[in-house]
Amino acid sequence: MASVEVRNLTRSFGSHKALDDVSVRFEDGGFYALLGPSGSGKTTLLRMIAGFDFPNSGRIEMDGESVERVPLEKRQIGMMFQNYALFPNMTVAGNIAFGLEMRGLPKAEIREKVRAALNLVKLDALGERKPHQLSGGQRQRVALARAFVINPRVLLLDEPLGALDKALRVDMQAELKRIQREIGITTIFVTHDQEEALTMADRIGILRDGRLVEEGEPEEIYNHPRTLFAATFLGDANILSGTWSGDAMVMADGTRILVSGAEKHRPGEPMQCAIRPERMHLGKGTPTSSENTLAGRVVRKMFSGVSSTFHVETSGREIRVVVPNSSGTRFGSGDQVTVTWSAQNTFPVA
Ligand code: ATP
Repeated sequence: MASVEVRNLTRSFGSHKALDDVSVRFEDGGFYALLGPSGSGKTTLLRMIAGFDFPNSGRIEMDGESVERVPLEKRQIGMMFQNYALFPNMTVAGNIAFGLEMRGLPKAEIREKVRAALNLVKLDALGERKPHQLSGGQRQRVALARAFVINPRVLLLDEPLGALDKALRVDMQAELKRIQREIGITTIFVTHDQEEALTMADRIGILRDGRLVEEGEPEEIYNHPRTLFAATFLGDANILSGTWSGDAMVMADGTRILVSGAEKHRPGEPMQCAIRPERMHLGKGTPTSSENTLAGRVVRKMFSGVSSTFHVETSGREIRVVVPNSSGTRFGSGDQVTVTWSAQNTFPVA
């Protein structure tokens, strides 16, 4: 296993920078999700690390050694892509053994490694089946086993669960996480699914237009996003804007909003804040004084099983508040409400 460090990596296609000065460290044994909209550079970054493609400038290091000019086959990398192709005429065991045979390992060792890999992906009894005799999730496991059986230093997964339906995808997320923990392999996982990144990864990097805009642990980056892009890309966020007065953000209508972590702002500076909808509360009457408050009217309620999202109109702007349905909230369209939330859940975003 190895740590991977990418420094000031740039890759241009013509005048378009698919990667623009990206620096990021992938810790040894860590599970790292690269998240970003379509075209943000996720696959390009993975391809550089794998050695399918080479940067225009910048460095890629594995365990401190520069590899950006080392060819693909020498990097010892395991890969799995969304459109992975199993060999249709080979058995499951044959598919998994293929990479080991290519490396010329002794037969007995191959047999043992394949057995261990089948066991890890819980396909012990299916080694002799052909791919067409497997379910989608089982095929995915074979592809995964094939990627890690060669004992790579790093595992690169590009939307590996993209082709699965929602229920299977959730199962496979847990499986993949379990397998990654068991073998402890450094894993870099590309997804455009925010929830998937939040549930699975130890760290998340968010790419936008070839740049790494934010990076951190899932809870940290979800609860305390520093950029407007991360706040809105990684879940829903209410964005309020105003001017920093020195002790509060004052909105255009004069409402004062208490904010956390605004130390760097200077009085008079414009500012915007993000608040997660589930950190806000709905009530009636006058709230306690320490909280932020906006009075408004419910314009829409969206039921979604576990919770409901209330769209509340407050002096011309619409705020979304997510309330667990188990709380028994009975507000509906047209009701006058007060939206409250604490300063601790209100962060400036750039
Ligand atoms: P998706 O989620 O859609 O897979 P992505 O974040 O993985 O997107 P990339 O595939 O890395 O995005 O592409 C980043 C940008 O680089 C895109 O604008 C893409 O069109 C461009 N690009 C990638 N490969 C090439 C290439 N070989 N030639 C020209 N442009 C390319």
